[in-house]
Amino acid sequence: MFRASRDYEKARQAMVARQLRGRGIKDGRVLDAMGRVPRERFLPEGRQTQAYDDSALGIGLGQTISQPYMVALMTEALHLRPDDRVLEVGTGSGYQAAMLAELSAHVCTVERLAELSERARALLCDELGYTNISFKVGDGTLGWPEKSPFDRIMVTAGAPHRPQILLDQLAPRGEAVAPVGGQHWQTLTHYRRKPDDTIEEHKVCECVFVRLIGEDGW
Ligand code: SAM
Repeated sequence: MFRASRDYEKARQAMVARQLRGRGIKDGRVLDAMGRVPRERFLPEGRQTQAYDDSALGIGLGQTISQPYMVALMTEALHLRPDDRVLEVGTGSGYQAAMLAELSAHVCTVERLAELSERARALLCDELGYTNISFKVGDGTLGWPEKSPFDRIMVTAGAPHRPQILLDQLAPRGEAVAPVGGQHWQTLTHYRRKPDDTIEEHKVCECVFVRLIGEDGW
């Protein structure tokens, strides 16, 4: 039974130990940030006691907040540095944006559903006090050209093919992660822009995300 914030704190530290460290997440900055960000705040009323379950959860409008392990794995795979400017596609609840904001200089996050974007903005900026996140409502498959280039890009919905428009907004030596594949499961893919400007890619793991819907998506 969760009664007080210390119950959530305890559950959060247990999640970090069992679900993250126990499964091979090693980056100390990622583990520390996962231990700080209050995931329960990003869930709808009535779902908050499930915040540290080992699963993705519904956030309304047919969308999800990703499983804690997947958030940590994707964040670790980006190799974030404190000075990085980051693009996130798929703001959703705002939880992943908070993780990115903890570990980089600035996050630009794009969401196609205005209601989710506004809810995330109010929580992240007005309630939790983040000052390094910009929000946009629109089709994130097109990126955010006016704010590009980005040192890092994270796509948090499943793309049907390599997100070339987004990769074109990656700075030299920049890195991106995106779930790419079919409608029901995808391969989490890591991309790196090499010094000769070609893009190198490798598979991280299989995963399941909601669809990336848009001009260069589904
Ligand atoms: N990062 C989110 C979080 O921490 O809660 C989880 C994102 S959820 C798995 C995927 C999100 O991508 C949904 O909110 C969905 O509306 C959004 N989405 C899908 N297609 C999009 C697009 N073309 N542009 C922007 N957002 C999109």
